Amino acid sequence: MSLSTTPGSPPNPALPASGVMRAAVLYGAEDVRIEDVPIPVPGPGEVLARVDVASIDFTDRKVYLRGSHPMIKVPGLFGHEWAGTVAAVGPGAEERWRPGQRVVAANSAPCLPEEGPLCLQCRRGRVSMCENIRYTNGAFAPYILVPSRLARMNLYEIPPDVPPERVVFTEPYACVVHAVRRIPIHPLDVVVIVGAGPMGLFFVNALRRRYGPDLSLVSLDHMGSRLDVAKAMGASRGVNTRGRAAGEALREAIGRPDADVVIEVIGTVETHREALSLVGRGGTLVSFGGVAPGQILPVDIGRLHYEEISILSIYHHTPPDVAEAVRQLVAGEVPVERLITARLPLTELRRALDMVGDRTTLRTVLIPNH
Ligand SMILES: [Zn+2]
Repeated sequence: MSLSTTPGSPPNPALPASGVMRAAVLYGAEDVRIEDVPIPVPGPGEVLARVDVASIDFTDRKVYLRGSHPMIKVPGLFGHEWAGTVAAVGPGAEERWRPGQRVVAANSAPCLPEEGPLCLQCRRGRVSMCENIRYTNGAFAPYILVPSRLARMNLYEIPPDVPPERVVFTEPYACVVHAVRRIPIHPLDVVVIVGAGPMGLFFVNALRRRYGPDLSLVSLDHMGSRLDVAKAMGASRGVNTRGRAAGEALREAIGRPDADVVIEVIGTVETHREALSLVGRGGTLVSFGGVAPGQILPVDIGRLHYEEISILSIYHHTPPDVAEAVRQLVAGEVPVERLITARLPLTELRRALDMVGDRTTLRTVLIPNH
């Protein structure tokens, strides 16, 4: 993936002399403002990137509605999915970073061995649970600062002929790559994905690529248009659950009311309850959609025991997952053009957040330098 500077490289983006940019700042629940803030100056080991395209997702909407999240300090810069161009490099940054390079990054970095002993979770291989994880925000802005640890572990150069939109979903797709790596699937399994929004569609794509054409992959949603996209992206079936019990709809479609692996990607108690009801004997519920802490899912423990039902929870990603996500995205193995259904300037951020809630878009991308 590493490239030397070629004649086709984009020009070094000139920083505005004012030293100021119009960026989104989150102040609290439903309080986001577009205001003038200083353009960050990269310190030791850091990289400053111009944001060529940012993406807004359901996590951003949750953060906006709650006004808090483990990923973000409030008040603070907002947005975590972006692709851009290196604008400036701080002293002592790795030599591979140069202004003008196209780049994409994840939104976090776990323990870095050069900074001292790894935490227990990193030592036991559970890197997404890193106790010292550092998150980065600020994608909804013309420029974003890439902290030194992130620049070392989770920043990638992109070939100059790859449009930024093709890699802007690196972070969410890395979460799906992480999940697909951890979900045990047998070739005879029926896999149901509850929700055909962007994350559900990423699952369809990633599972089909990993397991080939024979895996039975069923997409569940109550929007027919989303199920059509799911089928176009590789789902064996699209099952519409509008106004009916999911098990009944599933039985009608595939001849059985349950499945061996059920992946919940929406993140509500109700959809978790529905997903759990669809798990058959020896099956697994994959809890992928994030629900706010404190919400309770009632579980029949007897059923769990006598039917050997597992619950596998998945959060976030690890550097190898990010690397694999970048590889697939750069190679064009993820049909992002099916997912980008709106493009807006950064000044329309609030409208973009509303569109996520209304489900009137699959994915909206924001152009901060519009
Ligand atoms: Zn760690």
